[in-house]
Amino acid sequence: MSKIKKCIGREGFQRINYLYQLSNLFVTENPVNHVAASMYSNLLVNISRKTVQRMEIDMKRTICKSCRCLLLAGITCKVRVKKKKVIWTCLKCRHSKVYETKDKNYKCWTQKDESLVDVFDYSVNYTTDKNKKK
Ligand SMILES: [Zn+2]
Repeated sequence: MSKIKKCIGREGFQRINYLYQLSNLFVTENPVNHVAASMYSNLLVNISRKTVQRMEIDMKRTICKSCRCLLLAGITCKVRVKKKKVIWTCLKCRHSKVYETKDKNYKCWTQKDESLVDVFDYSVNYTTDKNKKK
């Protein structure tokens, strides 16, 4: 038996990661492709819901909740700071999201150290596979 722990839902995470990268690529190459980018973003949100896997907070905050377009500052969204609040406005649907900045030490639960339960390191597995081929 191998001692390496398997990550539950690894395929879902890989699909979410791939779709996020694809959506990012479509928007950065040509902002006219925002329809395709929002389709892939919508697909990744649906996958995370179906597989009951949470997205990374930084990933989640860059997807518009209204039209699922990828929010990239200066390309598909407008970022303004007003009265100690950061306001992200989607340029496609004009939906805005407000983030408070009063507490500078504020961290989301997933960004805190105590939220980390286990770390999966697949680099060992990768190097052993690489050595076997030689
Ligand atoms: Zn939007």
